[in-house]
Amino acid sequence: MPPCYTIVIKLGSSSLVDEVTREPRLANMSRLVETMVQLRRQGHRIIVVSSGAIAVGMRAMGYTTRPSKLATVQALASVGQGILIGLWDNLFKQLSQPISQILLTRNDIVDFTQYRNAVNTINEVLEMGVIPIVNENDTLSVAEIKFGDNDTLSAITAGMMHADYLFLMTDVEALYTANPRSDPMAQPILIVEKVEELQVNTDTDAGAGSGVGTGGMTTKLIAAELASSAGVVTIVSLSSRPEYMLDIVADIQDNEGTSVEEMKQKLADKVKKGHIPLHTRFLSLPRDHAIKSDKKFWILHGLKTKGSLIIDKGCFQALSRKNRAGLLPAGIVHVTGVFHESECVSLMVVDSKTSPIESAKLVGQCRVNYSSVEISMIKGCQSHEIEHILGFADSEYIAHRDNIAFPPLVEEVLM
Ligand code: GLU
Repeated sequence: MPPCYTIVIKLGSSSLVDEVTREPRLANMSRLVETMVQLRRQGHRIIVVSSGAIAVGMRAMGYTTRPSKLATVQALASVGQGILIGLWDNLFKQLSQPISQILLTRNDIVDFTQYRNAVNTINEVLEMGVIPIVNENDTLSVAEIKFGDNDTLSAITAGMMHADYLFLMTDVEALYTANPRSDPMAQPILIVEKVEELQVNTDTDAGAGSGVGTGGMTTKLIAAELASSAGVVTIVSLSSRPEYMLDIVADIQDNEGTSVEEMKQKLADKVKKGHIPLHTRFLSLPRDHAIKSDKKFWILHGLKTKGSLIIDKGCFQALSRKNRAGLLPAGIVHVTGVFHESECVSLMVVDSKTSPIESAKLVGQCRVNYSSVEISMIKGCQSHEIEHILGFADSEYIAHRDNIAFPPLVEEVLM
């Protein structure tokens, strides 16, 4: 039996809706449905992240350009999301494939129990053989609680669900060294081992994406890096040829356990001979380096930071040791932003207590036991002084070690 995978498939607005008329691209959606049902019947667990609510809502209500007023966009999303899910349901129904709708905002996962609840629900839906269709709940989300774009949402979904693969379906076949539409010298990249080391020019990239979506290659690279840190392989493939996904998944199944070098050679050869369609694979960190803990992934990617704590190198070393300590007030050099107790903040490191704040490097995130005002008052002090300064001491730690998370290979940031 070939291995079965959990696969997240992200479909951008431009794959689902015509950019000019904003009519649904029915032929493409039907081929997507056929492909996804086929993958499902092969035993894979399929999760769809579908954009398009705003674009569909615009057409339904006769808008030719995206309105600037937030409430209007949200109203259009509420009109469009219903039509969009109805359309998906209609198409999947033809092949007797049940679907479910999952609308998320960051607010829905702000509490770890809620986060786990969302994971359990999606798992239950998958166990039933259903294909969940996820979108950002645009109707209710404002900037503070937004995932932002669906590339990011799909990478977070893939990490949350411990997916094996994330397909970012887009209007180019692969990642190129530059924008292939404007630069004839642009070369496709088949395999990316480390996204952060990638040298590509995304300046002329659609940047803010197509006329109907919000993504572009830049957000895809961010999504791929996030997914990779969670052990998920990201694939960029052509959305107008959904059936390519079948060839790519079959190739992955055939090459389980192949070394990266061998995979690179084989893939280049197969693409050249036309045995497999052109696409890009962003390899993930090996499972033993990737983020394994749900709590850590949630702190790093589920929560939005409200400020930052700047700590010195000695403090960082104590926090990143294997039997790491909690974050004590003594290690804190500066506090920025306004936040309350239990909120999430960035952790940034400076060489020494006298280093300029501008030299601080981002190393991780944590949930704090005290507010920004309180931390400003107790920074640099010993824990036994907290009560004297604040009049109370809820904890000796600014953040407990279970509430501190560093991304994999964080030490490299400081080198
Ligand atoms: N959630 C938005 C929508 O459904 C799209 C966001 C995106 O494409 O990144 O219209």
